[in-house]
Amino acid sequence: MNTLKIDENSFELAEDIIKDLKAPEDLGILKCIQCGMCTSVCPAARHTDYDPREIVKRVLDKDETLITDDIIWNCFYCYTCQSVCPVSNSPSVVNQVLRQRAVDNGKGKPKVAPFSAYGESFIEFGLGAIPSNFFDDLIKDFGKEWLELKINLEDIREDLNLGSMFLPEKDVKDINNILEKTGFKNRLNELRRCRDEKNTR
Ligand code: SF4
Ligand code: SF4
Repeated sequence: MNTLKIDENSFELAEDIIKDLKAPEDLGILKCIQCGMCTSVCPAARHTDYDPREIVKRVLDKDETLITDDIIWNCFYCYTCQSVCPVSNSPSVVNQVLRQRAVDNGKGKPKVAPFSAYGESFIEFGLGAIPSNFFDDLIKDFGKEWLELKINLEDIREDLNLGSMFLPEKDVKDINNILEKTGFKNRLNELRRCRDEKNTR
């Protein structure tokens, strides 16, 4: 007798996304009507093969190959898609969960490893300061004035009575405890290893 084998590990992508911590309670992925409004306003779709409507369709079709598809890395989280979706869906959030899965299964690690310096700044300052290894590119984009502003920012803030942008030491310690207990530091170490391997190749 033929029996139908059900893979208990296979997941319903859309259901999984709805349950993810990143997803808001009213995420309307199951209500997507494939109207294409998201694609019509998506800047990534204008300049690449990326198509948020198609991404959502593939999720609804339970297409798990999406998680290992490089196309998901073309979104840059501007959230314009979310602002026009008539059913409260957010291809941007959908994409974030897909990328998280890609990182969890290892395929996405090299994609995010270059940004591990942001994680390092969370540990050092308790906030996501711009890592110094991005400074050269930012100077190219915004000019040397940007660096001067950056260097003098604390003084400028003091003149404007805005207070320091740095957190008190005790708060940084508390944040570090949270980063330790939630596994953030372990994950960051994995990304550092991945980044260092890439740099030594
Ligand atoms: S705008 Fe919303 S409903 Fe329309 S295709 Fe995009 S996700 Fe689906
Ligand atoms: S968040 Fe991503 S999918 Fe949405 S409009 Fe921006 S680039 Fe496109």
